[in-house]
Amino acid sequence: MATSPESEHPIKAYGYAARDTSGILSPLTFSRRATGETDIRFKVLYCGICHSDLHFVKNEWGFTKYPVTPGHEIVGVVTEVGSKVENFKIGDKVGVGCLVGSCRSCQSCASDYEQYCEKQVLTYGVPNFDGTQTYGGYSDHMVSDEHFVLRWPENLPLDSGAPLLCAGITTYSPLKYFGLDKPGTKVGVVGLGGLGHVAVKMAKAFGAEVTVFSTTSAKEKEAIEGLNADHFINSKDEQKMEAVRGTLDGIIDTVSANHPIAPLLNALTPHGKLVLVGAPEKPLEVASFSLIMGRKLVAGSNIGGIKETQEMLDFAAKHGITADIEVIPIDYVNTAMERLLKSDVRYRFVIDVANSIKAE
Ligand SMILES: [Zn+2]
Ligand SMILES: [Zn+2]
Repeated sequence: MATSPESEHPIKAYGYAARDTSGILSPLTFSRRATGETDIRFKVLYCGICHSDLHFVKNEWGFTKYPVTPGHEIVGVVTEVGSKVENFKIGDKVGVGCLVGSCRSCQSCASDYEQYCEKQVLTYGVPNFDGTQTYGGYSDHMVSDEHFVLRWPENLPLDSGAPLLCAGITTYSPLKYFGLDKPGTKVGVVGLGGLGHVAVKMAKAFGAEVTVFSTTSAKEKEAIEGLNADHFINSKDEQKMEAVRGTLDGIIDTVSANHPIAPLLNALTPHGKLVLVGAPEKPLEVASFSLIMGRKLVAGSNIGGIKETQEMLDFAAKHGITADIEVIPIDYVNTAMERLLKSDVRYRFVIDVANSIKAE
């Protein structure tokens, strides 16, 4: 029996949703499941606007089902816990990132790599195990199995910390996995947006020497003075690109527009790693010799597992890492999306959900 978003579950919920490929968000009344034995229900306080949200509301990846309520950088306060919940209580500050489910039994899940589980359930816009759609954090409250809920560190700000749940873990995880987390490591970061600016902060906190690559010279000051990067290179400047040949241990490439990677491979030392976390539309062009001569690696990385996301939040709290944000009310969200499309934000919008999304 087909049911409407409003009536498929017992608990009324309210948020903002896109209804077609225009991507324009407007109020939506829907519903969420009752709190199960291992579930946590929480009131959403803040939710970051990730570039994925923009792709998703416009169906640019081709699998959006409307209506879609985006948001996977969600911070809130617990209002109800199921009878078998072990790690949380009412009043706790919590976060939910990009995942709200996985099979919990495959090899990836058993190794705390839920982000690579074939049966992972994204926080919004996909069918959950019960067949109903998931709805993200541009909404008044969330419900999730406690396994996918993060403890919010006491001294980590709720608003500027929220983007870490996607942008933070997306950059922290490859820095760790590819051994770029050692003091003195020479790390490049390509692109200075939502992901890139957090990548710089993470790498600096690990003690790396950080070089920012951007095609926008105006970002030099932001990179060096604002984010404490050690070097800045306009990647269109062939001379400067040549000058860094063979010097970097690893590069985190956050750019999702099509761009050449050959100059980046040149910048790597032997055994250097180029890690992609942005997803350009077109396939990459890689000359075999640019990898063979130096045993170089081109890799990809997607967010992080739940255990590692917790570790990242605790690391961020310890080192005072947050995102640079612009807090907005929900009625500004469509303008924010337009500005995000033009990279006109330093560097992340965060929606003040608690004060602006309220059921009428
Ligand atoms: Zn994201
Ligand atoms: Zn699994």
